[in-house]
Amino acid sequence: MLDLLADTVRDHPDDVALTYFDGRLTFAELDELSDGLACHLVERGVAQGDRVAVYLQNVPQFAIAVLAGWKAGAIVVPLNPMYRMHELTKILGDSRPTAVISSEQGWHDVVGGVATALEIGIAVTTSELDLQTRDDQRLFAKSQRQPAEGCADLLAVARSYAGKRPPAVSPSASDIALLVYTSGTSGVPKGATNTHGNVVFNAEGTALRLNEDTPGGIFALAPLFHITGLVVQFAAALAAGRQLDLAYRFEPGVVLDALAEHAPAFMVGPSTAYMALMNHPEVSPEHFASLKMVHSGGAPLPSAVVEAFRERFGLYIRNGYGLTETTATATSVPLGKEAPVDAASGTLAVGVPTYNTVLRVVDEDGSDLPVGEVGEIVIEGPMVVPAYWNKPEETAASIRDGRLHTGDVGFMDEQGWFYVVDRKKDMINASGFKVWPREVEDVLYGHPAVREAAVVGVPDAYRGETVKAFISLARGSTATGEELVEHCKRQLAAYKYPRSVEILDELPKTATGKILRRQLRDTARAGEQHG
Ligand code: AMP
Repeated sequence: MLDLLADTVRDHPDDVALTYFDGRLTFAELDELSDGLACHLVERGVAQGDRVAVYLQNVPQFAIAVLAGWKAGAIVVPLNPMYRMHELTKILGDSRPTAVISSEQGWHDVVGGVATALEIGIAVTTSELDLQTRDDQRLFAKSQRQPAEGCADLLAVARSYAGKRPPAVSPSASDIALLVYTSGTSGVPKGATNTHGNVVFNAEGTALRLNEDTPGGIFALAPLFHITGLVVQFAAALAAGRQLDLAYRFEPGVVLDALAEHAPAFMVGPSTAYMALMNHPEVSPEHFASLKMVHSGGAPLPSAVVEAFRERFGLYIRNGYGLTETTATATSVPLGKEAPVDAASGTLAVGVPTYNTVLRVVDEDGSDLPVGEVGEIVIEGPMVVPAYWNKPEETAASIRDGRLHTGDVGFMDEQGWFYVVDRKKDMINASGFKVWPREVEDVLYGHPAVREAAVVGVPDAYRGETVKAFISLARGSTATGEELVEHCKRQLAAYKYPRSVEILDELPKTATGKILRRQLRDTARAGEQHG
């Protein structure tokens, strides 16, 4: 990535690299500030292959920190800024960084305590209010400037080395660029070792696609700490020399204002972000007028959402599928095409494998299954991580001979389109009949009153397990649970429709916008036992 940055800085030094509300940085400024911070890190003792952890929202300092980490020869560990003591202790305990770069608020709230307990010697903090001149009350009501004791100030140290460059490093394709702990919706978080080769391959893939027919900037709808944000937004913007617009964190009203202000051409985010934008009381087609291409990835995209978005805003949302372990993208919808919907299940295709990538569908023994049959998706390609950090057993279980066993269940159709049916572990078994929650959720999304839906299995005396749905209603809608059960009953086999529907104000989600289906399932199960 450093070579790509160098090319962009040489060719477009004065172009805007980042915007943040009404603040902006050019590529030359981004390069110089990250050089300065890298000098500081190296001087304080960060050595090649060391880890540098970054705990920040979508602020320009995130970009400076990542580039500085790479320029110091380090592996960058992006941390979800919603993580608290428990998660941080696990992740930092596993990755053992020598330096941590955090927001001042985050340092005071939690990072400082964990960093001290783990004896992380180098700390750099920054105020999220820096590099931005217009305070947005919707975001910063609680944030204050509170310089952290014993920590260097990111912008002050970066500026203090003006004009100096850190000793040159030239990481090879197989060196680790990022250690990204997977979202944690299942099991213990594991660090995916995304190499420089993995990151460059997928960043250039997105850059090529943008260069083909999408001139203009990129809006960072996805968080930068997530692999999609890091690679499909940040690294792709560097590779393509595009402006990246940041807006702290996903807050629908703020995002709509930023879209209108910066007029980007491309954005990518989880389907739930599109649902939230679509449901915002002030949304209008003008907000999306500048966009030429919008991508959804990281979570299931119901075809009803694609259609509603197109109808209201004239934009087609392109689905894409991948994992942290595939450095974001593994499939995409080719330009000029639209993803088909499987007639039997109503599932929208996730696309076809990207360049040089192979997806297969296999049975329990790992043998290839024929077209149309449902099995585990296995991915092989230049973006698959070689291993998990320090976890030989987990690596052996999932990544063998360069092939990633995803734990996702899906199939391929006659034309080579892939469909993700569900996660292997989320399947509901009702008297031996397999129910994939996604299929029932897609039917629920087809009801105009449904904003969000999550379907889980709950214990049942007769069937072993039965189907329960949690939903939140679209603004102004008043559907009842019974009505929604009837809606599903009309469209699904008898063993599939939900036996009960619980209406919540909001479904629980991860910071990256994935609905926490398993949390709902655990709550539902606990309720059954006590009820
Ligand atoms: P993460 O590692 O956080 O990016 O999560 C990867 C998981 O998100 C995959 O294993 C899938 O279960 C899910 N996922 C990603 N993209 C899609 C998609 N387009 N449709 C359905 N599920 C998806």
